[in-house]
Amino acid sequence: MKFSSLGKISRPLNPPATLPYILTNPEQNDILLPMKNVLGSWNKIGKGLLNLVYPLECQICKIELGPFKESCLCNECKGRIRLNLPPFCLKCGKSLINSTYTNAYCQDCMRTTYHFRRAWATGHYQGILKDCIHLFKFNGKLCLLPAFTELFLNFTKLYIKINEFDAIIPVPLHKTKIRERTFNQAELLANDFSRRNGIPVYADNLIKAKHTPPQTELSKEGRASNIKGAFKITDSSFLKGKNILLMDDVFTTGYTLNECAKILLEGGAGSVACLVLARG
Ligand SMILES: [Zn+2]
Ligand SMILES: [Zn+2]
Repeated sequence: MKFSSLGKISRPLNPPATLPYILTNPEQNDILLPMKNVLGSWNKIGKGLLNLVYPLECQICKIELGPFKESCLCNECKGRIRLNLPPFCLKCGKSLINSTYTNAYCQDCMRTTYHFRRAWATGHYQGILKDCIHLFKFNGKLCLLPAFTELFLNFTKLYIKINEFDAIIPVPLHKTKIRERTFNQAELLANDFSRRNGIPVYADNLIKAKHTPPQTELSKEGRASNIKGAFKITDSSFLKGKNILLMDDVFTTGYTLNECAKILLEGGAGSVACLVLARG
């Protein structure tokens, strides 16, 4: 039986509508986005013509980008992103390239037990990548999405057997947070990545049921208890024995990913691995 017939995909695989946010926050958004959302699948010629009238600019260095560009990050700035390079810690994905430690795990992972099988991160949470993630997440610069998808595609081509995964699940946000932000950045990342590799996204089966203060506002100790019990599964019928790729934007302490992995495994998932843009 095909996996896609085992459970309901409770949300279409397209990115969720971002129009309300764009209309209410015009200053913070790429001017092209409302039209892109209304028309859905733009063809490249249409985009190029529109870019002639409203040229995209690189969100970092502000140079004007030519027509037919989908991403608002120029090649030079993209090239300055500090990529995560192997060898990786076999658990949390941290690069061990400058480590004198010869173990396969970083020092943190020698002391921590995670529920997920392993995690991967495409880059380091600093410099341009950190700035881009902030612009995307907090300023609604969704035109950075193609650059993030490119990072995922380049990374997975080199280091991950992506076909071993049956489904992608984005780390959910609480509905209050979605109302505030109007989108879940992890879901946008997952949907765009899925569009390029064909692995289905199950976005509504894992939900964040408890509204919690942002992890960044808490001490390391507070973060674990803050997130405990925050997630739940609404429909576990599709999970049984499946290999899940859990996606998020950033891995900092790993508590959020770990709690999601725990719930997914309790719900019957065969294994859970994590993929994020940046490792803090
Ligand atoms: Zn630039
Ligand atoms: Zn590690």
